[in-house]
Amino acid sequence: MNRRRRIYEGKAKILYEGPEPGTLIQHFKDDATAFNNKKHEIIDGKGVLNNRISEFLFLRLGELGIPTHFIKRLNMREQLIHQVEIIPLEVIVRNIAAGSIAKRLGLDEGTPLPRSIVEFCYKADELDDPLVSEDHITAFGWATPPELDDIMTMAVRINDYMSGLFRGIGINLVDFKIEFGRQYENDMVRVILADEISPDSCRLWDAETSKKLDKDRFRRDMGGMMDAYREVARRLGIYIENDRPEGSGPVLVKS
Ligand code: 5GP
Repeated sequence: MNRRRRIYEGKAKILYEGPEPGTLIQHFKDDATAFNNKKHEIIDGKGVLNNRISEFLFLRLGELGIPTHFIKRLNMREQLIHQVEIIPLEVIVRNIAAGSIAKRLGLDEGTPLPRSIVEFCYKADELDDPLVSEDHITAFGWATPPELDDIMTMAVRINDYMSGLFRGIGINLVDFKIEFGRQYENDMVRVILADEISPDSCRLWDAETSKKLDKDRFRRDMGGMMDAYREVARRLGIYIENDRPEGSGPVLVKS
């Protein structure tokens, strides 16, 4: 078997060395974690769905002119990506109050925000990813002021596009988390969208019923997480090859 060099293993993904310099392979695992790893389960098939949903969204955002790390999907669980130096920030965009902002500001979940709000959290598990200001970010050198400008501009455009996309399939984009990285090419460095965008990192509520179609089903022990993710993929028009009822017998796997 071909042994690949593992560069990094996170909660939901593994990064392997890619076939060319400057590339990596991003592998989506079935692990679901919450509350900084205090809750952990294996959800059969989650990695396959997130790989496909993230591919779909990164391709659409790329077409829109947002530079991303995505190159191509390799198989059910893996995609080829550009290597980046991750900027240690979780960039959160919110349209409707939910989760930590609802708690922090005493807002009822589901209250529309006066306008979209961008927040930054410093990526540090040992600190539970604390909320930080733009001044923290530039003072500590996590990103430069021009990088932060690019990040803000891209975050707002991504929110505009994705809100419309999901509205068109009967889903409200409540909030989401994205990450960016620096791509070095010759003497140039640019900030590009990295990581993933999937129901693990977005809050997606059915527009008619407000049913949660995202990872809150796992965080809040609501059950039906895979059905919800499958529903998002189905509405996006994504066909999952091995998405078939259990016990339906073996299928010929294309090589
Ligand atoms: P909140 O701050 O309300 O917990 O989360 C806001 C949004 O960012 C939600 O859509 C949530 O899924 C996403 N988010 C926040 N932190 C993380 C994280 O560590 N991992 C992932 N996958 N998503 C996150």
